[in-house]
Amino acid sequence: MALKRAVIFLGPPGAGKGTQAKQIAQSYGLPHLSTGDMFRDAISRGTELGNMVKPIMERGDLVPDDLVMKMVEERLSRPDCAQGFVFDGFPRTLAQASVLDGILKSRGFPKPLVIDFVVSEDKLMRRVSGRRTCSIGGEIYNIYDAPSKIEGICDVDGGKLVQRPDDRPEVVKERLAAYERQTKPLTDYYRAQGLLEAIDAGAGVQEVNRAVRQALNGARRS
Ligand code: ADP
Ligand code: AMP
Repeated sequence: MALKRAVIFLGPPGAGKGTQAKQIAQSYGLPHLSTGDMFRDAISRGTELGNMVKPIMERGDLVPDDLVMKMVEERLSRPDCAQGFVFDGFPRTLAQASVLDGILKSRGFPKPLVIDFVVSEDKLMRRVSGRRTCSIGGEIYNIYDAPSKIEGICDVDGGKLVQRPDDRPEVVKERLAAYERQTKPLTDYYRAQGLLEAIDAGAGVQEVNRAVRQALNGARRS
């Protein structure tokens, strides 16, 4: 039987987690679980959860742990998560990480492999300010570093490319502060358990992709 694996992509907003998670999840045959995407989907569908989290996300704050965990537990109970998953943007607090530990244990998963995306702040600002996302399929572009072939139009499905409302500079500042305050402590938490693989995520997309694969393949052998 294939090894069960839980992978966590950790790092600040704009580090490139989503770009890599889409590609890696597809090539390893695992679901890509982005809690940010799940919340944006709830907002666009106008659900009760969406209405609750919309103002929080617009301010750049983190969604309360209980709402995040309820959504994640429901998602993990679906059959496509039986053999593993790639988390992108989750966990983001020590409380979420601790609840996740219990969930993984109860589902017979080994400890997660955590990849820490390390990028300088000037690169983060460039990436976040230049990010554009397809309004249909969620494909990720960057007007500076990864432009679409036709400006404003997705190469994959022709969808309109839009800027996320929380990528405006004043909100980005809040999101980076939330990362420093609430999420960065997770690096120590996972490092202390020998689970953290830090990668230089400031390189180009292909190079970062190679580093992620190396970290995953190394962990598979150990
Ligand atoms: P995150 O999910 O960590 O917030 P994204 O994957 O959405 O980050 O990437 C943020 C922005 O940076 C996007 O516009 C993306 O196209 C761009 N990007 C991602 N990885 C790289 C990279 N290695 N080099 C340059 N730009 C990148
Ligand atoms: P992201 O798409 O990962 O950049 O997330 C966008 C926003 O969604 C964040 O700024 C938070 O408001 C919210 N969010 C996503 N994931 C989480 C999480 N694990 N915990 C709390 N808030 C989250």
